[in-house]
Amino acid sequence: MKKIAILGGGVSGLSCAHYLTKLGKKLGRSDRIILIEASSAVGGWLKSHQFDDGVVHELGPKSIRASGLPAHNTLLMAEELNLAPEIINVKHSDAAARKRLICIDDQLHTLPNSLKSLIFRTPPFSKPLITALYQDFTTKRLPIGDDEDISVHDFMSLRFGEEVAKYLAGPMCRGIAAGDSKKLSIKSMFPPIYQAEREKGSVIKGMFSPKAIPASISDEIAKSSLLSKVKSEKWSIWSLKNGLQQLPQRLYSNLIKESNIDIQLGHKVDHIMFKDDGSAVLHVSNSTSIKPISVDYIFSALPAANLAKCISAKAYPIIHKTLGSVKSVSVAVVNLEYSGTVIPRDMGFGFLTPSYTNSVILGIVFDSCCFKDHDAARDITRLTVMMGGEWFEDHFGDPVNVDQQLILNVAKDAVKRHLKVDAEPIRTLANIHKECIPQYYLGHGSKLETIKKEIESTRLNLELLGNSFAGLGVNDSIFDARKKVENFIDK
Ligand SMILES: Cc1cc2nc3c(=O)[nH]c(=O)nc-3n(C[C@H](O)[C@H](O)[C@H](O)COP(=O)(O)OP(=O)(O)OC[C@H]3O[C@@H](n4cnc5c(N)ncnc54)[C@H](O)[C@@H]3O)c2cc1C
Repeated sequence: MKKIAILGGGVSGLSCAHYLTKLGKKLGRSDRIILIEASSAVGGWLKSHQFDDGVVHELGPKSIRASGLPAHNTLLMAEELNLAPEIINVKHSDAAARKRLICIDDQLHTLPNSLKSLIFRTPPFSKPLITALYQDFTTKRLPIGDDEDISVHDFMSLRFGEEVAKYLAGPMCRGIAAGDSKKLSIKSMFPPIYQAEREKGSVIKGMFSPKAIPASISDEIAKSSLLSKVKSEKWSIWSLKNGLQQLPQRLYSNLIKESNIDIQLGHKVDHIMFKDDGSAVLHVSNSTSIKPISVDYIFSALPAANLAKCISAKAYPIIHKTLGSVKSVSVAVVNLEYSGTVIPRDMGFGFLTPSYTNSVILGIVFDSCCFKDHDAARDITRLTVMMGGEWFEDHFGDPVNVDQQLILNVAKDAVKRHLKVDAEPIRTLANIHKECIPQYYLGHGSKLETIKKEIESTRLNLELLGNSFAGLGVNDSIFDARKKVENFIDK
């Protein structure tokens, strides 16, 4: 029997506990698991605010992608947790999936989304997008060594041309990472795109070649009635009726029923003291006390910088320094609720802005166009304005000292300016998420390699999970937790 600690009760830590329990039961293991979470609730950035009248506003993630292996894995988990009846979805044919906009020089443009829009020129592009695809098809594999890295912007520019880099890759990086495509690594941000190019010499060719599905999951996929529905109905994204926070809440309520799991909320890991055999003593504090907890193995699902603070700089200088160098950016999220229908219901998912403008507005999501159920049958329009990210300090200064009224005013002005909505919102929520999205800057992959090698050579019983390491989306975090738990159990 091993005593396993999971640090952090965000979706990564909870998924780790879920898979340890599930696989442990299957194999008749009797490990004891202790999950330690600093805040008073689980879920990390998955936070939904539901008003008494049922209206839901998402403060963190708004939707989860429905296609690809990690996405299917999350849906399998949702099905296991009996969340299938709670799921609401957007199909590929819906406007919220088809229409994704970008804002260039105060003009909103719908991104090409059909064969026709590939063949004919669609502003702001100066040429039909098919020419960009042709460039990728005919350009040789880029001369990048295995130990070299290249930015998302440069990679996309070399493969598809400058306009695709500016108008597609830049806004995507702002939408996913709140980051700058010229600073972010293609290898770490979009591994499937990079791998496709490496393997087939062309992104398009590589993306269309079939991918092997691990045996451990293919059976589950084949048996899942939820996944056959997802595929036949062609889902694009999904959420939950009471907001995405239902997912960590359901994980939590299932886990606390297990006799071998102890979840300690409101407890912060301050320090980890590793012993010679790789096991560790955690120093854990709450508002009143500090206690030592001895464990055999640690799954850390803390943001890299938080974990760095727990690891001695003297004993493990490389791990401490490299973890600490993974920076995260802050994002201001303002949820606005307007009376009536202030934008067309089929206006699309929302718009993003390109990196080169350095605009404080990362984008605006048209929430009511995506998940109408969250309007709770009221005649309202919900919008979310995302601001800051890589540019937060330039516009707002230190995130700790920013006035909420200021971010609210900037958000309302952006809605007036870009969506021509002059009405005042009837309800608002303004939050500053400090250091909420890790940045996979150039060289991120080699940092992770360095940390992995150091953990191996110093023989620490430590595995790293979470969005500082595994990919930025909810699906990535959950799938990575599954893979790491499977490896651990196989050892
Ligand atoms: C504004 C925003 C919008 C997003 N939108 C989307 C989206 O639409 N779709 C999508 O797929 N993804 C989205 N994401 C990303 C998604 O939220 C993350 O991938 C996911 O939440 C990462 O979960 P995690 O458990 O790895 O980390 P976290 O959620 O950061 O959880 C880490 C946990 O560790 C705890 N902790 C920290 N330090 C300590 C300590 N010392 N001791 C104990 N506990 C500690 C924290 O309290 C927290 O609960 C968004 C993120 C943000 C911020």
